[in-house]
Amino acid sequence: MSIHSNFIKSIMETDLETKKHHEIITRFPPEPNGFLHIGHARAIVTNFELAKSFGGKTNLRFDDTNPSKEDDIFVQNIISDIRWLGYEPDGIYYASDYFEEMYVRAVILIKKGLAYIDESSADDIKNMRGSTSIKGIESPYRNRSVEENLKLFEAMKLGQKEEGSCVLRAKIDMSSPNMNMRDPVIYRISFDHHHHRGNDWVIYPMYDFAHPIEDAIEGITHSLCSLEFEDHRPLYDWVVRETEMPKIPRQIEFGRLTIENTVMSKRYLRQLVEENKVTGWDDPRMPTLKGLRRRGYTPEAIRKFILESGLSKINSTIDSSMLDAALRDDLNQKAGRLMGVKDPLKVVITNYPENQVEQLDVELHPDIETTGTRSIPFSREIYIEQEDFVVEKPNNKYKRLYLSGEVRLFHAYFITCQNVIYKEDGTIDYLEATYDPETKSGSGFESRKPNGTIHFVEVSQAVPVTFNMFGPMVLDEEEGDIISRFKEDSWQTQHGFAEPFIISLQVEDKCQFKRLGFYCVDTLSTKENIIMNEIATLKSSK
Ligand code: ATP
Ligand code: MG
Repeated sequence: MSIHSNFIKSIMETDLETKKHHEIITRFPPEPNGFLHIGHARAIVTNFELAKSFGGKTNLRFDDTNPSKEDDIFVQNIISDIRWLGYEPDGIYYASDYFEEMYVRAVILIKKGLAYIDESSADDIKNMRGSTSIKGIESPYRNRSVEENLKLFEAMKLGQKEEGSCVLRAKIDMSSPNMNMRDPVIYRISFDHHHHRGNDWVIYPMYDFAHPIEDAIEGITHSLCSLEFEDHRPLYDWVVRETEMPKIPRQIEFGRLTIENTVMSKRYLRQLVEENKVTGWDDPRMPTLKGLRRRGYTPEAIRKFILESGLSKINSTIDSSMLDAALRDDLNQKAGRLMGVKDPLKVVITNYPENQVEQLDVELHPDIETTGTRSIPFSREIYIEQEDFVVEKPNNKYKRLYLSGEVRLFHAYFITCQNVIYKEDGTIDYLEATYDPETKSGSGFESRKPNGTIHFVEVSQAVPVTFNMFGPMVLDEEEGDIISRFKEDSWQTQHGFAEPFIISLQVEDKCQFKRLGFYCVDTLSTKENIIMNEIATLKSSK
């Protein structure tokens, strides 16, 4: 599946036809201050797929111009996540490697009288900017001489000025209706350690100044970003023009992806991690690529979901069922079928010979013969799901076991519940049933219609399994801050059993537990302590 036609693709086509560009070069520019989430996947897939469709290139560029929150751990995880999604960047670059060039470009602005050092406090700068209804006021420092500005900028660079004591501002238009053009700050002082440049620099360029220069340096033809940067575009163009960059990139905005009941901002995700609400950036409830991967989402399903959800100029909130549908499609084709019981109820088959265990050969996948078969045991004692039994049949729609009712066991026999054995507290201890040896699956027996088909796990070879089930961490309709909205019960655990084949699965392998859903072997799972994460139930509940 490749990228559909969209407004950005059309622009690229025209630019190639008119020979404005000979090649399409895009970039994905994350700030290494957190892990990538599914929203970033839209930007990644869009940039890579668009370039690919024209035989072009896509760079990965770390937009690392803010030392305080950035870290190499994020750099490494971003690289591995992009590869996991299925893309290999044409080059991996760091904006911080361009600091020298950016400095030179800032000096060009100063020399042209287009930038000045402002020693006003941050508050004063903010107040003097005005608002959309109030015109900005020019700073008293706005008309310093070029020489003085050069000297002060140099002093900032040499660490002779204190943090917060001054900034470099572009000199554009304090009465512009576009707030971004009201003399934006383009350099500030920070003595923080930088993850990539160490202590080389104490002045750092601001995003609006740095980003267009980064794009221009790399020869990016189309700089795609999310919609909130639309108002920044005039500034983007101003910077490219006035700093006299030889290559001219074009910024194009697209709508952000939001999925319902999903937090999608690094700031909030970081907060959940730092306040230990979740187990880490890879918690299976997190919408991070690491979290989705641990949960069992496949890169194929994520790519398909992004491509199918299309691209538009407006932000869109998409129902999470669309992602789950892409996922089910993918897993349905790939995942082998197993049986597991999440909430076990023991059944003793009284007419089955004691000490006998028979092995049933069963296909692993109904459509893919090459995946072969597995062997499932059957004996006098089995577990079924608590949910699959009630004493009295409630109505005719009920297609499971009940006292004196008969059901088919997948791949095995028909059983009839004969007796319910209770504990002292009145709850059910176990069931007694009889089986009909004539009804063995595959024996051609079809004359009787059982009351449904249920799954089971044979007791003597049952492998203990921890089942993890997940719900949304927060709901859209609830108000308050992220921490108070957090749903503590969004991670549910049950201890059950699975058939012996489960032992052969490795971390990240996926399977379908019949009737329960798709599951993935958790990162922390071991042969002795198997942990399975629910990826999705079999059918959408909507
Ligand atoms: P967040 O808002 O989650 O903190 P961000 O935009 O600050 O994300 P960056 O590292 O700056 O994170 O993002 C890298 C790129 O990914 C940017 O081009 C940004 O526009 C894009 N991006 C981030 N979130 C989304 C989203 N939800 N939908 C589409 N693109 C996104
Ligand atoms: Mg950002």
